[in-house]
Amino acid sequence: MNDKIQYIDKTSKIPLMGVDFLGIIDRGTNVIELKPNTLCNLKCKYCFVSSGNYDTNFIVNSNYLIEKVLDIIRIKGDYNLEIHLSPYGEILLYRELENLLKKLSEIKGISIRSMQSNGLLLSKPVINKLKKSKLTRINISLNSLKEETDCYLCNCTQYDVDKLIKNIYTLMNSNIQVLIAPVWFPGENDKDIEEIIEFVLNVRNEGYSESQLQIGIQKYLIYKTGRTLKKIQPKSWDYFYLYLSRLEKKFKIKLKLGPSDFGIHKRKRVSTLDLQKNHIVKIEIVSRGRWENECIGKINDSLGIKVLLKKPLVFSDGLIGKVIEGKVIKANYKDNILTALFPHKL
Ligand code: SF4
Repeated sequence: MNDKIQYIDKTSKIPLMGVDFLGIIDRGTNVIELKPNTLCNLKCKYCFVSSGNYDTNFIVNSNYLIEKVLDIIRIKGDYNLEIHLSPYGEILLYRELENLLKKLSEIKGISIRSMQSNGLLLSKPVINKLKKSKLTRINISLNSLKEETDCYLCNCTQYDVDKLIKNIYTLMNSNIQVLIAPVWFPGENDKDIEEIIEFVLNVRNEGYSESQLQIGIQKYLIYKTGRTLKKIQPKSWDYFYLYLSRLEKKFKIKLKLGPSDFGIHKRKRVSTLDLQKNHIVKIEIVSRGRWENECIGKINDSLGIKVLLKKPLVFSDGLIGKVIEGKVIKANYKDNILTALFPHKL
């Protein structure tokens, strides 16, 4: 883990929307995704966002996030909303988690507060705090019940599976729903996935309900900026669903989960500028980014943009406050995420 930490609050003037790795993502549904931090306690070999060794890490002030969430709720409507905490890192390293969850639980219209975690930092006191802060569900990324396999995949020397299993029971007994979300690495953890399914079925046979313990197998995806398991070839989506169908038949369990299984539905989207790929846009640089070739730009008070610096340019403090012209290279309105390149050639 690196020491450089950038704290973002209202005074920092860094917009909370538009940048993929922090703030708020609106995918046009009733789920509002929050990314409050980038720190991680692991450096998984397959991490699609390369977390765990950023040059600079980010922490967003919880009150600043709440303020923006309230703005978004005014647009989406204050009913049946889910707030999902899904940082490019580990949420249990976010010191303001309790405050954030508590405040979210007091907001009208938010019925579900969920989060993603690798689960390794869970303990009875931590779970107790999560219970008091009214967390609804935790998605835990457990890829194997064998410590050796987890250590290999998560690039660590210790991975206490027994402790994690005990904590899963404590979570369920604390009225917090658990979703085990293993990634299937074809040829690497096939047997492990089946063992996790058997574990889920055994727990359900002990009397825990399907909503108390769910399983959502993830497809292994490769991203340009992520880390990859060299020897593993990801399969197509068709192949993945065929694999899930086979497992569903074999274990008589529902594994193909879609948005409706989580009550996710379309909802009004926070409006953004009609920026398109290749547009040239004026951007004020307001912060460094996670890497030396990345920084955060501001288009207006509520909309930010990730700016990639073209080699050999690297970030320096002298860039802060400068208004540059960047070329939009990604304008994903489905996710409200923007990326620009600077300098650019027309
Ligand atoms: S996969 Fe999750 S736990 Fe692993 S390094 Fe990435 S963010 Fe951290």
